[in-house]
Amino acid sequence: MDHSDDDHPATPTDRDWHDDELGRWPDRADVVVIGAGLAGLTAAAAATRAGARAVVLDAHSGGGRAAVRRVALSGTSGAAVFNDGPRALYLGGPGHEVLRRLGIRPRGHKPPTRGSRVSLEGRIDDLPVGLASLGRSGVVPGRAKPTLVAALAALMAGRPASARPDEPASAWIRDQSRGRDDVAALVAALFRVATYTADLDQLSAAAAVPHVARSLRRGVLYLDGGFEQLLDSLRSVATGADAPVAVHRHVAVSRLEQTVDGGWEVQCRDGRTVRAGAVVVAAGGPAVAADLLDLPELVDRSGPPATAACLELAVAGPVPTRFVLGVDEPLYLSEHSPPADLAPDGVRVVHVARYGATGAVADRARLESLASAAGIDPGDVVARRFLRRMVVQTAIPSVDHGGLVGRPRVAVADRPGVFLAGDWVGPVGMLADASLASGEAAGSLAAMAVVGGAATVRSVVA
Ligand SMILES: Cc1cc2nc3c(=O)[nH]c(=O)nc-3n(C[C@H](O)[C@H](O)[C@H](O)COP(=O)(O)OP(=O)(O)OC[C@H]3O[C@@H](n4cnc5c(N)ncnc54)[C@H](O)[C@@H]3O)c2cc1C
Repeated sequence: MDHSDDDHPATPTDRDWHDDELGRWPDRADVVVIGAGLAGLTAAAAATRAGARAVVLDAHSGGGRAAVRRVALSGTSGAAVFNDGPRALYLGGPGHEVLRRLGIRPRGHKPPTRGSRVSLEGRIDDLPVGLASLGRSGVVPGRAKPTLVAALAALMAGRPASARPDEPASAWIRDQSRGRDDVAALVAALFRVATYTADLDQLSAAAAVPHVARSLRRGVLYLDGGFEQLLDSLRSVATGADAPVAVHRHVAVSRLEQTVDGGWEVQCRDGRTVRAGAVVVAAGGPAVAADLLDLPELVDRSGPPATAACLELAVAGPVPTRFVLGVDEPLYLSEHSPPADLAPDGVRVVHVARYGATGAVADRARLESLASAAGIDPGDVVARRFLRRMVVQTAIPSVDHGGLVGRPRVAVADRPGVFLAGDWVGPVGMLADASLASGEAAGSLAAMAVVGGAATVRSVVA
């Protein structure tokens, strides 16, 4: 699963993942959760809060795509935290709301918008999102600026209500840009950075517009310690409950078999089994769930993945341009630390990415050249990782699949007691927002199925 071309040794963090030692192999549990990523740990936290005894099984070392790596810094004894690509928590989004309900307050910092730049035809210019930068920026000519202001106002004011699930985001952008390609290109760049989706012809406008609008209005947080902070917090909630959740890692589930009493036998690749009253499948994308449940239609009903090529840099020197958004190319560069705490004093962590990975050699060369254009001196780079193809979202809410409302539901028809969670499940949110929202609903419903009506399903995703 590691798609990296490492220049520096990177170690997955193993801190605090010692729950396997909490006890013996459980022959029986109220709820078995398959997958210890954001969705699975949220499901486990929600299930245990609702009074169920839950067990989490993960095929790998846990954390899934939210796990971080510690990377040694050349010439020092220090290390930086790399997130495996740029990560930001969407403030006020469905995921943030789930965390709040679980009593988790994410610690991090909003990136400053001052000094943000765009890259267009090889030039770096001001990103015209505020009044001052709009006046200065040469990205759109003066006569197009009123149209840009109107398009941004439509987005920020929440006119998204008009967007339909089968309307492509690209069509919505064209409408708001009133035939001006320069305005449309700039608005499309804002959609890409907020949704991580390069293919705006496939992305449902009804899914994307509220997400982009909220991220512009409320902003994002770069988390201290990276997304691992969320994993740690979710695990504290799950393992700190009256009936603590046990997490067993390096255990791959191979099959689910319904038992005569209406429960489920969870079969693992190493031959072990666990009996469960209910099961949450939070194992990444639709392909694994389809395989475990023998339901190939889960794949057919899901959109294509969103991928990215990512370059992560630790820089012991100045980063003259802290944020660059590609307008004519799907590119991104941002200094994540500072503001977040990911590296020792004096070292900066910079993420560079291409939305939609195309090929390792060309993507890497383009990302390195964007870093140079942002003023980063290669001699100052003390750690570097290139990740040639990361699956950012396992299935985008696509126009061909009915957008968010067309995604597979949390409760699986014909599989009573089985619930799905992940960034491809349920009608709420994109990316980690969807994993957290569907995880909360799946864990609550699974607990309800086993221990009765104490659980409250907050998100209407069943
Ligand atoms: C480069 C990149 C940038 C991103 N940036 C953002 C961002 O800025 N904001 C945002 O909101 N989201 C972002 N995301 C998306 C976010 O990280 C994911 O949506 C989220 O982490 C997915 O969590 P999950 O639990 O649904 O799935 P995963 O993290 O994929 O977890 C699935 C888990 O299931 C386990 N598993 C698989 N098969 C089995 C099996 N058979 N048995 C047992 N276990 C199994 C896996 O080992 C894994 O741990 C980004 C993702 C990437 C890759």
